[in-house]
Amino acid sequence: GSTCEPAEAPAAVVLTGRVLGKGSYGRVHEGVYLGQRVAVKQFAHGTVAEAPLPESVMRSCVQELEILARCDHPNVVRLLAACVTGPRPVIVMELCDVSLAQLLYNRSDGALLPMPLVLHIAAEVAKGLEYLHPTIVHRDLKPANVLINNITSPLPEVKLADFGLSRIWDTVQPTKTPEAGTPPYLAPECFDARNHVVTNKADIYSWGVCVWEMLAGSKPWAGVAPIAIATQVTLKNTRLPVPPSGDADPTRWPKRLRLLLWNAWDKDPGRRPAAAEIAKELLLLREMERQQGSA
Ligand code: ATP
Repeated sequence: GSTCEPAEAPAAVVLTGRVLGKGSYGRVHEGVYLGQRVAVKQFAHGTVAEAPLPESVMRSCVQELEILARCDHPNVVRLLAACVTGPRPVIVMELCDVSLAQLLYNRSDGALLPMPLVLHIAAEVAKGLEYLHPTIVHRDLKPANVLINNITSPLPEVKLADFGLSRIWDTVQPTKTPEAGTPPYLAPECFDARNHVVTNKADIYSWGVCVWEMLAGSKPWAGVAPIAIATQVTLKNTRLPVPPSGDADPTRWPKRLRLLLWNAWDKDPGRRPAAAEIAKELLLLREMERQQGSA
């Protein structure tokens, strides 16, 4: 036949029921594909099954697919298959055990994540960003979009997910991009819709907020309205308190880490460290922590 035809009939993906998560663009189900347990992101809008997807949801789906198809790295969730025709496009990806958000807030003991685990996750997220950043900016980095496998192993796998807002650098235009990420994780420049030139340094700011959240064990800017967060970070240059007031264990905030967070939140994106620098610094920090722990 012609070279355009697929060699084999496309394999079916079977949803096995369990909903792994819900997002603004639909649901992520557990499923089975080619005999393997997988995660299936199903894009949907409203409850009418045959209703066409709004333009914004379709754009996000195609964008996510384009980016996942380019990626091949242990710190980025793997794309296995996709079907974007029909009213309910799906993206099939490798199944992960939990998101960082679930890990932080569904703990039965309510305890904080141990320091070595925090530093490991922080370093792995930085390595994922280091891989993406020459060409891709994630734009929605937050604990719900960081996935984790084998949490009981000494070095769990950490993978970045949800590329619905991501952009490929060579297509980034210095124009308005109305869809924003999630206010507590947004760099100051991301609130400015008039001059929305977002660089990969916006992800570095979000990385810092994720690390703060793991250390503090609570939501950043809890109880503060998005508009007030915007005012604080854009006009008053306010950073999250390091450590937060009343923090029971200041040993969780070593000086070098505080400095790293402070710099990640610099108002000037150009002064924020690159992902590679962060990953290197964390290697050092982990070694220092390990030596202190065994002293
Ligand atoms: P948002 O509203 O944050 O943009 P979304 O609709 O784009 O969400 P995702 O963020 O991709 O959806 O996924 C929502 C949730 O589903 C995640 O926070 C996570 O808990 C779960 N999830 C997503 N992908 C996987 C996966 N591959 N393995 C396991 N769980 C997953």
